[in-house]
Amino acid sequence: NDTGLEAPMTRSAAAFLREQRVVPGGSMRHASWFAPHPPYAARGEGCWIIDLDGRRILDCANNFFSLAHGHAFPPIVAALTDAIAKGTAFGVPMEAEIALAETLRARNPRLEQTRFCNSGTEAVMAAIKGARGVTGRHRIAKFEGCYHGSYDHAEVSLESRPEEWDDAAGNPASIAYAKGTPPAVLADTVVLPYADADRCAAILKREGPSLAAIILDPQASKAGMVPMPAAVIAAVQQACARDGIMLIVDEVVNFRLGFGGVSPLFGLEPDFVTLGKIIGGGLPVGAVSGPAARMAVYNHAAGKPKVALGGTFSANPLTMAAGLASLAHYDEAAVARLNGLGEMLRQRVNAGLAAAGLPGRMAGAGSLFRLHPGARKIEDYRSARPLPAEAEALPRIHAAMLGAGILLTPNCSGALSTPMGEEQVVLIADTLIKATIAEFQA
Ligand code: PMP
Repeated sequence: NDTGLEAPMTRSAAAFLREQRVVPGGSMRHASWFAPHPPYAARGEGCWIIDLDGRRILDCANNFFSLAHGHAFPPIVAALTDAIAKGTAFGVPMEAEIALAETLRARNPRLEQTRFCNSGTEAVMAAIKGARGVTGRHRIAKFEGCYHGSYDHAEVSLESRPEEWDDAAGNPASIAYAKGTPPAVLADTVVLPYADADRCAAILKREGPSLAAIILDPQASKAGMVPMPAAVIAAVQQACARDGIMLIVDEVVNFRLGFGGVSPLFGLEPDFVTLGKIIGGGLPVGAVSGPAARMAVYNHAAGKPKVALGGTFSANPLTMAAGLASLAHYDEAAVARLNGLGEMLRQRVNAGLAAAGLPGRMAGAGSLFRLHPGARKIEDYRSARPLPAEAEALPRIHAAMLGAGILLTPNCSGALSTPMGEEQVVLIADTLIKATIAEFQA
């Protein structure tokens, strides 16, 4: 603006001011908050968000990776239109929930039985309770820095700081994420290192007999979006077999990595799988799935279940309809195509950064990606945690991307969607390379 006058306020800025009066912080999507404020969406169309100001933004955030097909995907719109005319929720079941559970089982036989709920958080909570019901124990183990939603135990050591990382014995400490976390939650949550198999095995040798569950995500975004080492997975599997611990694999995000989800890709045979995001086709969803012998813990048909897992809106017909349409169009070919585009994106960005002599690297797998602006090896939450200079650079790169019309998550990660093609991948890669070069030359 070279007029010397203040630019007129955008409609998104005005909406943000208005929302701050009635919503603390001015947005409920706190993970998507960034300065000075996010764009407000007016509508979506394929891989594009059209904001209140009419700007078209290429959407790589995809509602926290929950959209496999972008926005207003015609088959999902058609399925929802058909379902909504028939009523939105009943206190009795509908056939659609059978069909979605059958679809999951057809994709991975380990997902033999399923119960639906309304968010990934709820699924994780229910799986932990299920594991408690099966084992009669109450403690759990989780990996440092890994996100599994906001259930108290799942949230421990989500964002611990370097000065609090280790306990007196040199093991990862159980650190509260939310202020006011009950001390019992910390005492009952064992924290494991994502990339240190020996330490993992030693901790599990000591704590194993008291654990109901170990929850893991083998390609956890907050652990750098790098694969969990096979030796760590082996240590977990050994402990589970030895001490009768339930293995919960959190596939809420990473189900999208393979046709049958992520467990088969890592040779994992979970007792419980938590699902969400793309299996609901863009509507609120969560699910716990697993072998019938484990899922029996939720069976109320024979009387009182060991663990109750229900809910007013669980398996609601709109979510079921959208989920069925989402998965029907996320077949083996679609998964392979989208994963190929992700590979192309990572290669192009990494080649571009290397050619420019920059230290950054793009990690990820399948259709998921995350930019690491540093030169060090990324192998877990600690190494992935941005250094102070990087923590300043990432929001600037994010802002430069948004300025160029591409939305990433605030830590510069993203997910591709099926309406995208090579044209969009090239655009994302080249814009990101340019933004990163500009940041380092500044
Ligand atoms: N687990 C993982 C791995 C997640 O990434 C998320 C959400 N991003 C959750 C669980 C919680 O899901 P929801 O936001 O639906 O509660």
